[in-house]
Amino acid sequence: MKLTIVGTGYVGLVTGVCLASIGHSVMCVDVDQEKISQLQAGRVPFFEPGLEELLAQQIREDRLAFTVDHEVAFAQAEVIFIAVGTPQGIDGLPDLRALIEVARSIGRTVDHDVIVVIKSTVPVGTNHFLSQIIAEQLLHPVSIQLASNPEFLREGSAVYDTFHGDRIVIGAEDEAVAHTLATIYQSMHIPILHTDIRSAEMIKYSSNAFLATKISFINEIANLCERLGATIEDVARGMGMDQRIGEKFLRAGIGYGGSCFPKDVKALLGMADLSGYPFQILQAVERVNRKQQMLLIEKATKRLGKLRGKRVALLGLAFKPDTDDMREAPSLAIAGALLELGAQVVGYDPVSMGNARYFLPSQVELLTRPEQALEGADAAFILTEWEEFTLPTFAPLLLQMKIPVVFDGRNCLDASALSELGIEYHPIGRGMDR
Ligand code: NAD
Repeated sequence: MKLTIVGTGYVGLVTGVCLASIGHSVMCVDVDQEKISQLQAGRVPFFEPGLEELLAQQIREDRLAFTVDHEVAFAQAEVIFIAVGTPQGIDGLPDLRALIEVARSIGRTVDHDVIVVIKSTVPVGTNHFLSQIIAEQLLHPVSIQLASNPEFLREGSAVYDTFHGDRIVIGAEDEAVAHTLATIYQSMHIPILHTDIRSAEMIKYSSNAFLATKISFINEIANLCERLGATIEDVARGMGMDQRIGEKFLRAGIGYGGSCFPKDVKALLGMADLSGYPFQILQAVERVNRKQQMLLIEKATKRLGKLRGKRVALLGLAFKPDTDDMREAPSLAIAGALLELGAQVVGYDPVSMGNARYFLPSQVELLTRPEQALEGADAAFILTEWEEFTLPTFAPLLLQMKIPVVFDGRNCLDASALSELGIEYHPIGRGMDR
């Protein structure tokens, strides 16, 4: 089919490339000329494993093209997927300005019947609201049907997730629309759930809110393990073996971050507020997460005393491994709090140094090798479980520190290797650390 994807960020680009690779003819449009030029040259403007190879193949085989011109992008489209950003707005609810802009442009431009699919994560009721905006702008007597198709991919494994998702959710009021969308994805052989539009919008938020809840829950258990002398990994394993609980998302650490969980939790809380329902569990999830992000600072202060003037090396700055995304990364809150305490903060990340420079305060010195960050440091904080920190070559680098004391916010280092080298190790949730 002839498909158009609006927005070439993590979601839009991955969706476009993957849909092209199963034989559709895909046109991607973005307002960012620089991004589009890079994509036309076959380069992915962000870090996502496996995406660039697949992109190049689709361009070569003439199934994928890029433009900044909405008119060109919509001219042939049978289905338009909208995947523009919906960042957190000042009131906590998502900022829908980019979506509204696209809806207006569709209304003004489209001169044939088309299905418009909202892939961006949007508050319940947004599809309905956007269909009104499109209708107000229409210049031609055409039928435009809206559908919701929320996205569940994870950055870092986005291509794999697109082909191996647990489900595809299609929210559509019209059977024929749902059938067309199901046909687009048919060859991926992923279970499809057809719901009404509002339920599809809600599925996305409740899924992310539930996963965030799992993270805050296991972090609270880890904090309790430290006080009661239990070991979080054993506890999590034992819990996860119960199929009603499941083993995923039971890794204790310094809390969730990224471009989705924080803003989606906030948005659901905002929706609950607006509807007069206090969502108490989710309020606690957010509170626990904020507290958990400060855990390493708390531990370091307890061990080293006041952090004023101390050099703290942050290793790993992205919100998780295999991505360069720094949006709402815990490193941002941690670096900010350390600076406020008067610490000298240095940082290193194998992939996200460019974004880190943009997101972190200028007082944070960024260094291109981990040993440079560690040199003379009073404390090392592991903030992202990058594979290179888990390799045997990494532990000896910690000996560059003034005193080798490491606070592992991801429990990813090998405790016995560190102990052999005489490195003091503070993981989360293992035995008595209180
Ligand atoms: P992103 O910020 O990486 O990309 C958004 C893109 O939209 C940008 O390239 C921007 O230039 C473009 N854009 C903005 N206005 C436009 C317009 N008027 N016309 C054309 N392009 C325009 O965002 P993302 O991370 O891909 O997220 C997109 C949506 O998907 C959000 O709602 C997000 O919550 C949701 N989502 C994201 C993820 C994820 O892991 N990133 C996962 C699931 C769902």
